[in-house]
Amino acid sequence: MSEQRTRLGVLGWPVAHSRSPAMFTAAFAACTMEGWSYQRLPIQPELFEETVRALGASGFLGANVTIPHKQAALALADSASDAARAIGAANTLSFAPDGTISAENTDAPGLIAALGRLTGMPAHPSVLVLGAGGSARAAVWGLLDAGATEVSVWNRTPERAIVLARELGARAVSQPVAADLLVNCTSVGLQRSATEASSLNQLGMSADHVGSYGYVIDLVYRDDSTPLLAAARAHGIATVDGLEVLVAQGALSFELWAGRAAPLQAMRRGAGIQGS
Ligand code: NAP
Repeated sequence: MSEQRTRLGVLGWPVAHSRSPAMFTAAFAACTMEGWSYQRLPIQPELFEETVRALGASGFLGANVTIPHKQAALALADSASDAARAIGAANTLSFAPDGTISAENTDAPGLIAALGRLTGMPAHPSVLVLGAGGSARAAVWGLLDAGATEVSVWNRTPERAIVLARELGARAVSQPVAADLLVNCTSVGLQRSATEASSLNQLGMSADHVGSYGYVIDLVYRDDSTPLLAAARAHGIATVDGLEVLVAQGALSFELWAGRAAPLQAMRRGAGIQGS
């Protein structure tokens, strides 16, 4: 009988900033999953495929995937979910005992699960997504799949928004438009040195403009509030931050690998969410 594989990790380059190891370690402790481990796997793009193909034989059950490997992860998988294929990226790989690799994308359903933290949200909201990278693709696909009435996409480089919108059935806009829900899928806000005004400016917005949205989600996470969330909260708008989205996607990956419900509170604490 083969030994149970209990190793997991997150593949990225760089990956030192990832809070996933702390989040998963807290989950294993909460579920008394002895022997399970989750580690950072810093892998440069040139070594990605050969490293991933060797993980299953080294006792790994699966791995999360982050920047810049999500598209490569989908490309090397033997099978993939419809969501991962439609989005064009995978953030969760599973290694079967026969050596085959399957790919899933939990970023999209994770974002939708995190939306559940916003009370009073319309069942079919209109949405403005900022950005046209990997996380924007997952957000647009997930929001349309979850029944959003209209999803508009604004991006600094407009051509990328046009391509994304065409492929996924959204609407590209040349400047931020009104919507029930605003979702930031750009990396603006990561840099602490930028002022609130300059950060919002990079998103084509002012603090007043942010006040016109009913709900705001920022995928960027850091210890303090991002400039976008600070502006939204100053207007009394309900918000969800990137750590909640991280926990939600991580919980879905956990359930896929462990075959049991994820201990959400422990994962929120492990990820460093204040007051959890
Ligand atoms: P990505 O594929 O590299 O896309 C980056 C996006 O940010 C592009 O749309 C880019 O616009 C835009 N951008 C970058 N710098 C900008 C600036 N100075 N002004 C305006 N737009 C700018 O990255 P991604 O994977 O989508 O991730 C985006 C962010 O979400 C990252 O900060 C990542 O850490 C975060 N994220 C969080 C979670 C979570 O679980 N919380 C999950 C995934 C991602 P151009 O096309 O014009 O370059």
